[in-house]
Amino acid sequence: LKLDKNFEIEKEYIAKSVYFYHKILLSDLPLAKEARLYLEQRGIELEHIVKWGFGFCPYSNELSRKVEKKLVPSEPLLELGLIKKSKINDGFYDFFHDRIIIPIYGHEGSIIALSGRLFQPHLQSKTKELPKYINSPESAIFAKSNVLYHFYAALQSIVSYGFVLVVEGYMDCISLVNAGVTNTVAVMGTSLTHSHMEALSKVTKRIIICFDSDKAGQNAARRTFFIAFPFKGIDLEYLEIPDGKDPDDFIKKYGVNEFHALIPKTEPLLNRVCKWFFEESNFKPEVFLRQAKEHILPIILQHPDKQVQDESLLFLCDKYFENVYPEDLRQEMEGLSSLHI
Ligand code: ATP
Ligand code: MN
Ligand code: MN
Ligand code: MN
Repeated sequence: LKLDKNFEIEKEYIAKSVYFYHKILLSDLPLAKEARLYLEQRGIELEHIVKWGFGFCPYSNELSRKVEKKLVPSEPLLELGLIKKSKINDGFYDFFHDRIIIPIYGHEGSIIALSGRLFQPHLQSKTKELPKYINSPESAIFAKSNVLYHFYAALQSIVSYGFVLVVEGYMDCISLVNAGVTNTVAVMGTSLTHSHMEALSKVTKRIIICFDSDKAGQNAARRTFFIAFPFKGIDLEYLEIPDGKDPDDFIKKYGVNEFHALIPKTEPLLNRVCKWFFEESNFKPEVFLRQAKEHILPIILQHPDKQVQDESLLFLCDKYFENVYPEDLRQEMEGLSSLHI
């Protein structure tokens, strides 16, 4: 297995497993019907199940039973994290049991991992806290921080629309794409990393972040600002979803036309980040100035383009600080950084 440097064997077993779980989702099993109903209520019809390759693992011995019967070898599936060794006997169990499965395609277009969303209607009354989503483990072919969900399939649209929309969750991406916003990709529960930015910046100059409008989404957007702002030649923007929703909830409730109507309200991510810090400073400019010196100005001054630095400093001074000039800020910050050396 390890000798195969293109990971063809791993990719083959992942693809086969995805297809195996896909057939279960499409089967007559009562739980599979419930899973399809659940997806349908979320706007995911049969054609979407097929298009996105959704699967379902209702019980913990679907794939592992095949392994125990020696119909499938255990090593590749163990290595891929799709089955685990049982702790109570010498058998195996399916890692994705009780989950609807979403295949994750790598930037080259082949399946490199699975994600599973909890679905156990028969256990709804139990209080056991399980994570809503789990992914197959990080491996030589899958690292969350390098992969954007739907990147490969979105490439053409990103190029023709001239921008990419980056959302937080698979379901956000799937809903938007199904509604025609095909230039959408999703980070998988992280912020945008340097590696994501490298991939995106090769295909577009305009990146619009559209995370959940809750605290977690806001924090991810801030981390994205810290990482992504200093990228040369990129316009980094933010699209805010109103009333605490995520993009999926929003288009379910208001429709995709209302979503399109939000796009002109896109603003530079810098401006949005400043608003969050200003709000946290209870709208006190002197408190915000301290925050800006600590968190925002160092990032602005990392930008490789002096003109962008100047425009950003000017924006801050104009909008928030009376009698403070861009050059004052620059000199102070440059003085500060030389003190640290
Ligand atoms: P849904 O709409 O199905 O309830 P969501 O996409 O709105 O899910 P969020 O809680 O907003 O879910 O999480 C956003 C994304 O973060 C998910 O799509 C997933 O990629 C990732 N994520 C969430 N919870 C976990 C977790 N426990 N482990 C790993 N990744 C997670
Ligand atoms: Mn969220
Ligand atoms: Mn969400
Ligand atoms: Mn959601």
